[in-house]
Amino acid sequence: MDPVGEIYDDLPLPPYVSAEDVVFALRAISVHTPEQRPDGQRCRKDQAAHPCRLHRWGRHVLQKRGLTGGQIQTLLTGGTVVLR
Ligand SMILES: [Zn+2]
Repeated sequence: MDPVGEIYDDLPLPPYVSAEDVVFALRAISVHTPEQRPDGQRCRKDQAAHPCRLHRWGRHVLQKRGLTGGQIQTLLTGGTVVLR
């Protein structure tokens, strides 16, 4: 496997993650979903290797907001999470 996915410095993160940033990050993650290709997983939206830049940015924003992977998954599937 190639060592992608750990580079977060390509898109700047907001200093404080607002509710708007959370909505935007969720939208980015739900649009930039992986698609199985012969050469591996690629972004459905921009064909970059998954997770692409925007997908990683969205995840990182939500993590910075204090959301766990499980909570992110709940939000992506239409569930409700009480934000701290
Ligand atoms: Zn993408």
